Amino acid sequence: MKRITSVNSLHRTLNTYRKQGLTIGFVPTMGALHAGHLSLIQQAAKKNDIVVCSIFVNPTQFNNASDLAKYPRTLKKDGQLLETAGCHLLFAPSVDEIYPPGLDTEVHFSFKGLDKMMEGRFRPGHFKGMAQVVKRLLDLVQPNDLYMGQKDFQQFTIVAHMIKTLKLPIRLVVCPIMREGHGLAMSSRNERLNADLRARAAIIYKTLKAAKTKLKTMEVSEVEKWALKRMEVPDFQPEYFSIVDGHTLKPVENPELHDYVVACTAIWAGDVRLIDNMIYKNR
Ligand code: AMP
Repeated sequence: MKRITSVNSLHRTLNTYRKQGLTIGFVPTMGALHAGHLSLIQQAAKKNDIVVCSIFVNPTQFNNASDLAKYPRTLKKDGQLLETAGCHLLFAPSVDEIYPPGLDTEVHFSFKGLDKMMEGRFRPGHFKGMAQVVKRLLDLVQPNDLYMGQKDFQQFTIVAHMIKTLKLPIRLVVCPIMREGHGLAMSSRNERLNADLRARAAIIYKTLKAAKTKLKTMEVSEVEKWALKRMEVPDFQPEYFSIVDGHTLKPVENPELHDYVVACTAIWAGDVRLIDNMIYKNR
């Protein structure tokens, strides 16, 4: 696996691949890799000749300086995991390579409100920063396929909207959520949970599952309230539990009237913020 930190070197290497007619699958990450990330690499390797993974902890998507400072960084171990997962090129740039002084990297398109609810309400500016870095990375890598996880439902929805709006010639492939044995969605942030919190964080998955069943007999708003209450256990503080339309991310009143319904939630476990979701209906 090649390891590259500069934009110039990335261009040179990718150009040689393209001249040979090789297809490129791209997996952007913030590192501290786990089996969820590696499943994206494996999917990319099945469909593309070359798999590029980026590791970049993007400062513009953190609205909280201490969250950025505490974000786990494990580049050496990440490199080893990527080698074994079938990645061909690791791009791990500095902040200056991604955001060179004087270069306007801001995105200029309407999010059509997709960034306002759920994560957007609790992390103002997060999606603007996320879209900015994804657009910059897509401009640099110019992949055929982009691989993202369902784990970040609102994120991939906004990226799909960006690809469509800007008419980028890229196929977005969304991969299923990888979970730990007891159901907790894998996340780089799980590393910061102590063993007790990590074990008890299974309540998130259990609540998502149980709420789906409740939805058969209860109103959406009642189910949301019930789910929030169920997750209000010692050391856990839910922020939202929203049952929304999977296309628009707007609240759902009657699930019967929607073909795509998803429950999204965010919760603090101690001082670690976790998100998860479950698709209740997609047809
Ligand atoms: P991150 O490093 O957290 O920015 O994540 C990089 C990519 O990996 C994003 O597309 C995530 O949605 C995806 N991802 C993170 N956790 C998981 C998981 N548990 N299962 C599948 N994909 C994931």
